[in-house]
Amino acid sequence: MKRSRDFLSGTLYLVATPIGNLSDISSRVKETLSSVDFIASEDTRTTEKILAYLGIHKPMIACHEHNEQEASNQIINLLKEHKNVALTSDAGYPAISDPGAILVRRCIEENVKVSVIPGPNAALNALAGSNIDTSHFYFHGFLNSNPSVRKKELADLKSYKMTLIFYESPHRIKKTLNDLYSIFGNRKITLARELTKMFEEYIYGTLEELASIDETSIKGEMVLVVEGNKEELVIDDNIILEEAKNLSNSYSLKDIAKILSDKYNLKKNYVYDLLLKKGDF
Ligand code: SAM
Repeated sequence: MKRSRDFLSGTLYLVATPIGNLSDISSRVKETLSSVDFIASEDTRTTEKILAYLGIHKPMIACHEHNEQEASNQIINLLKEHKNVALTSDAGYPAISDPGAILVRRCIEENVKVSVIPGPNAALNALAGSNIDTSHFYFHGFLNSNPSVRKKELADLKSYKMTLIFYESPHRIKKTLNDLYSIFGNRKITLARELTKMFEEYIYGTLEELASIDETSIKGEMVLVVEGNKEELVIDDNIILEEAKNLSNSYSLKDIAKILSDKYNLKKNYVYDLLLKKGDF
């Protein structure tokens, strides 16, 4: 176990930046970018635009997907010399479908402090406005660009009951919507595009409807929020009773009812009553 309060170093600040609207920069983001010694960034030109907007000048370090390992060495050396460093990505949170996770891992290995300065994130923005269940969700980020790997990924996700969130690019969106419909069947989906920008739009519909949408009407950056699996599996009571028997040495009747109702997407009371009437309890 390690506790960050015991680390003696400068701090790496992961600074979330706007996903399309410069007015979303908070005072804390501004204060942090003004106070650090260096700013590491996925694309120095993109970050320089934000810095110019804020009137800040700092030495920059490039830290992108092709050099994150080497850049991490340089950044960790600075942090160990008690310099403070901010890391930004092109948009939203570093380390979320963007470079940063390798650097964070290296920092913790080397007992270097990490702090996150909050701000916009495309997935959470889309989820909050999606009108799809927000109580439990799974963030997938980008699906694989290889069509057969993507289909396998979706087949593995088909049984998930929680809301699913995907990032997608406009040139692959049509294929992804088709794959989602053919693999998941019909479900609710919200396509959230151009969030925080002038042409922000939420499209609330079904996979069937979105699979046939006019592609030219959904340009820009987008997030897909897809309803989880709501199908009730038709499952033989004997299978449930057999599994319950295997669990009975380790769990209470109530816990077994919960485990199996979650597993098979059944009502907990139904499983509980079945076990009470026909199980060996
Ligand atoms: N780090 C970012 C975050 O915290 O949200 C995500 C970066 S990822 C490389 C870029 C993807 O995020 C885009 O392809 C799109 O799926 C989504 N995205 C970013 N900005 C968006 C916006 N303004 N509206 C909708 N989706 C956006």
